[in-house]
Amino acid sequence: MINDLNELSFDTQVLHTPYAKPDAYNALSMPIYNTAAYEFETAEAMEAAFTGRSTHHTYSRITNPTVQYFEDRVCQITGALSVTALNSGMAAISNAFFCLAQQGSNIVTSKYLFGNTYSFFVSTMASYGVEVRFCDLTQPTLVEQLIDENTCAVFLEIITNPQLIVADIAALSAICKLKNVPLVADTTVVPFCAFRAKNFGVDIELVSSTKYISGGATSLGGLIVDYGTFNPLQLPKLKVLAQSFGNKAFMVKLRSEIHRNLGAYMTPQVAYMQTLGLETMSVRYQKATQNCLTLVHQLADVKQIQTVNYPILAQNKFFDVSANQFGLTAGAMFTFNLDSRQTCFSFLNKLKLIKRATNLFDNKTLAIHPASTIYGNFSDEVRNAMLISQQSIRISVGLEAVDDLYHDIIQALN
Ligand SMILES: *Cc1c(COP(=O)(O)O)cnc(C)c1O
Repeated sequence: MINDLNELSFDTQVLHTPYAKPDAYNALSMPIYNTAAYEFETAEAMEAAFTGRSTHHTYSRITNPTVQYFEDRVCQITGALSVTALNSGMAAISNAFFCLAQQGSNIVTSKYLFGNTYSFFVSTMASYGVEVRFCDLTQPTLVEQLIDENTCAVFLEIITNPQLIVADIAALSAICKLKNVPLVADTTVVPFCAFRAKNFGVDIELVSSTKYISGGATSLGGLIVDYGTFNPLQLPKLKVLAQSFGNKAFMVKLRSEIHRNLGAYMTPQVAYMQTLGLETMSVRYQKATQNCLTLVHQLADVKQIQTVNYPILAQNKFFDVSANQFGLTAGAMFTFNLDSRQTCFSFLNKLKLIKRATNLFDNKTLAIHPASTIYGNFSDEVRNAMLISQQSIRISVGLEAVDDLYHDIIQALN
């Protein structure tokens, strides 16, 4: 038996995290516990479990052994205080904000958000009396000015999609620490193997595990990764719990109230698939991002393409901050501009190999015209404010041989 898993590398830890309890049959792969409820020997044992004095599972809307195993693995590789797995990335985002925000709170964030997150903030949260304050997160002084005693979080996406804007996360964290506000980051576009959120001062990490983790777009999922690093005493919503639970207040609020009441826990089948996905994520990420880097360099010289946008390109203004945070690749997504919306449509229609589809980080390469699809129902005014261009194509790069991808793009441009 290994004594201290923490001393091993990421790739080893992700494979060798032990089960919470030994399996009755020594199954090497975590069984899928397809059960809604759990039986108890005595009424006393039942009381202990239901009142939180023992850790037995009671009902699978709240906890389940297969899902817990997936959470334990993520906890192991991230060094988190607690991890909660939900049934989509949006469930992770909404559950987290229902734990932090209340009537009168405000959230400081940028306009460049994933479409549903934007809608969740400006429609759903706003209707419960939560104010959303937009600013440019690449200007930390502006962020500092917007924070006040009612700010419940500064929220960012570590590389915005599809604008590919990269803020300096450590600089934002320093401001958040100074002001006693949690820094909440959606890290979906660069997974744990390449971005160590905790080291950059992120307090709560939110992930759509539908993307890299699921491993081939098998299922939807979301993760709330809580590092226990902000002081909850300052937040009106968590103040009372913080007096008893200290830095565990967010976790207690989430696990004993919000996620039970909203009922969006991950299912065991999904946790099984996503645990397998997690095991191969690091090799898939390396291959996909190398493919992406090769393509952006090759396409930079193609005459029909006006601009290629990817943080790790020498001329990109986010090169330094991105390399410092994410290393020599920055996710497997890039965009390029053609001369018109019509040219974009014709390009998409001519693709033979690359799939016309939404989603990110499938094993297969996907192409989409964000302005007419993800942002198709937004007004021109909002779309322009969000820097969504009619001339832009987004590519999510997969695991194919990169030459085949290049040739498909070139033939579709001609
Ligand atoms: C896909 C995505 C989400 C939402 O995740 P779902 O699993 O589709 O609910 C949130 N943020 C980012 C950056 C995403 O790419």
